[in-house]
Amino acid sequence: MTAATRLISRLTLVTGGGSGIGRAVCQRLASEGASVVVADISEESANETMVGLQNDLRGQGHMAAVVDVSSKESVKKLVTRIQPPSVCVNAAGITQDHFLLNMEEDHFDRVIQVNLKGSFLITQAVAQALVACGAPKGSIITVGSIVGKVGNLGQVNYAASKAGVEGLTKTAAKELSRFGIRCNCVLPGFISTPMTEKVPEKVIDKMKSLVPLGRMGEPEEVADVCVFLSSDDSRYITGSSIEVTGGLFIG
Ligand code: NAP
Repeated sequence: MTAATRLISRLTLVTGGGSGIGRAVCQRLASEGASVVVADISEESANETMVGLQNDLRGQGHMAAVVDVSSKESVKKLVTRIQPPSVCVNAAGITQDHFLLNMEEDHFDRVIQVNLKGSFLITQAVAQALVACGAPKGSIITVGSIVGKVGNLGQVNYAASKAGVEGLTKTAAKELSRFGIRCNCVLPGFISTPMTEKVPEKVIDKMKSLVPLGRMGEPEEVADVCVFLSSDDSRYITGSSIEVTGGLFIG
């Protein structure tokens, strides 16, 4: 089997698949032969991703699905509608930036609910489905962030949520390895997506000046690492966090 078809006959689920990094992950998974469930809170953007996916490799069939990852009911509805996916990428996420001194409780709660609780609900539901059907293996990937390790001005909620998903993923890796399910995190730095379009130009310029490789990353560069972690090329990797930052905040 060539590297370009290493995910043939895998069913994959990608949350946040309607935009940015999640969309790039869907495209990369499909280009390697996977069937993709593109899940997003926005039906329109999930459909837009789905119709653009490569679908001419053996047995491929994609679908778009609406999910609010922060709702247990919505996650359950999605996961019971599909076959247990042997690959799951948690890419849904939001920011609601404010300085600590001014942050409303709602801003804190919502970011934790989507980024952290959402990753918990999806990881739990997918793992339960895989274990229940006796699947021999699975790979669950969560998109964290480098700011979960180092903090970031105006992002006390977001940094806390992303630090949380690393702990969640490492714990899931310990508990699920006996079922053949691997769990890993990808920690992007500053990537050009609709999420970072909201960041003021002068902040972006400052950040770029701190990146050793001298530029922002592209969603496809994060997707490549997610696809590596999805495939058997990473079969001996679990509980790890891979930084995709261009060297930003090297320890
Ligand atoms: P993005 O373009 O905004 O994509 C995020 C997607 O998640 C959007 O389609 C969004 O829908 C969807 N979403 C939001 N809330 C949801 C919910 N409750 N349930 C299901 N889907 C939901 O952002 P991105 O930059 O690609 O981010 C993807 C992931 O990478 C996030 O976890 C983010 O925290 C992480 N990350 C990004 C960067 C970066 O620099 N871009 C860096 C580190 C980590 P709507 O647009 O309709 O809200």
